[in-house]
Amino acid sequence: MPNNSIYNSYVQRDAAVIWHPFTQHQIEPFSIPITKGEGCWLYGENEEKYLDAISSWWVNIHGHGHPYMAQKIYEQALKIEQVIFAGFTHEPAITLSERLLAHLPNHFQKVFFSDNGSTAVEVGVKMALQYFHNQGNTQKRKILALQDAYHGDTFGAMSLGAPSSFNAPFQDMLFEVEFISQPNNPEACIQDMKSRLASAPDEYAAFIFEPLVQGAGGMLMYEASTLDALIQLAHEHGLLCIADEIMTGFGRTGKWFAMDYLHEKPDIVCLSKGLTGGMMAMGVTCCSNELFDSFLSNDRKKTLFHSHSFTANPLACAAANASLDLMEKEETWINIERIMLAHQQWAESQRNHPILQNIRQQGTILALDLQVGEATGYMHPLRDIAYQYFIKKGILLRPLGNTLYILAPYCIKNEELTLIYQALEAFAEELRITY
Ligand SMILES: *Cc1c(COP(=O)(O)O)cnc(C)c1O
Repeated sequence: MPNNSIYNSYVQRDAAVIWHPFTQHQIEPFSIPITKGEGCWLYGENEEKYLDAISSWWVNIHGHGHPYMAQKIYEQALKIEQVIFAGFTHEPAITLSERLLAHLPNHFQKVFFSDNGSTAVEVGVKMALQYFHNQGNTQKRKILALQDAYHGDTFGAMSLGAPSSFNAPFQDMLFEVEFISQPNNPEACIQDMKSRLASAPDEYAAFIFEPLVQGAGGMLMYEASTLDALIQLAHEHGLLCIADEIMTGFGRTGKWFAMDYLHEKPDIVCLSKGLTGGMMAMGVTCCSNELFDSFLSNDRKKTLFHSHSFTANPLACAAANASLDLMEKEETWINIERIMLAHQQWAESQRNHPILQNIRQQGTILALDLQVGEATGYMHPLRDIAYQYFIKKGILLRPLGNTLYILAPYCIKNEELTLIYQALEAFAEELRITY
């Protein structure tokens, strides 16, 4: 880190007043000040720069400081920056909804806005439970989720996430959710769901899942055919299926949405992260007219009573519309294909590596496990060593325990991908010598 007085003063001022997310301040007291972003690069106070290999927590699909997106947000700010979304509406939200629905399977016909991924999930679960409640069905209350699931950090979203060290202090206060076994073992997983559904066929309301890639749980990947079987089973038993595409949406998996690989389609989908290209915070939950209609009544008690102050904020909608403009360009899809091919070739070249193991890929997402000794999991001691190693090399990679992954903006160049691959190989070599 540079030893410069302006830099140091920012670091000290930050440490004096700010409590950072997912940060153990005793171990990591100092945060790196960033002043500028351009493409895949983040720039610090001085000359130092960091290659953002994780799209700043999976959000910046088009890279940083995109001038087109910035312009669109600016233009919107001059018109209307915020308006209450109950009883009022605006063009950016209408246009965005029409455009999103056009990219989703046909039965998605309504868009509900919220503020982020966790809230999009909360809304999805409330929609599903109240759908049955509004019809006078008081039996269907149980929810199924997948082992190793992550759906966000609010209380409802924590309940839907697999028990983990993240949630341990609150575990006894979370509502009950049943977790079926890992989908990368298809037979066991499908059998698990079958027997649960058979044991209480009329009590399950919803099944929630991250399609094809379970992100925070360790970039665990599984087959579309497994998910097809699970959704089919769920539908046969009258469950509503909720796809959490917060990480997988908008080209990440090589198609617009991970559900585009499926034959069986979910009933509710949650989107955020890439939705605004990482420019503004926003989430949406989409559903069918049939689900929407179950809330129609002259009885106001059947309303979906959920809102946030900034619901459908016009600036966030403008950012999302601008991001869609870029997503709809051929150039973006050429980039996605190029990243997929580069990942494939590098993965192939590292086959049977003694330390870089379980190299796996779904579209633009590449993940691997560092295999040194027995331990695994988010609290793995290698995590901090790996993080610091790459930061020193000017690459932002944020390991999930002993799992490393690349989830870069689509504008990343092949030379920049090579920098990451070479750093991974060099790190593995250091580990080989040390352990
Ligand atoms: C990040 C994430 C969330 C939570 O989104 P936030 O915007 O951080 O609240 C939920 N589900 C998945 C799959 C995610 O990756």
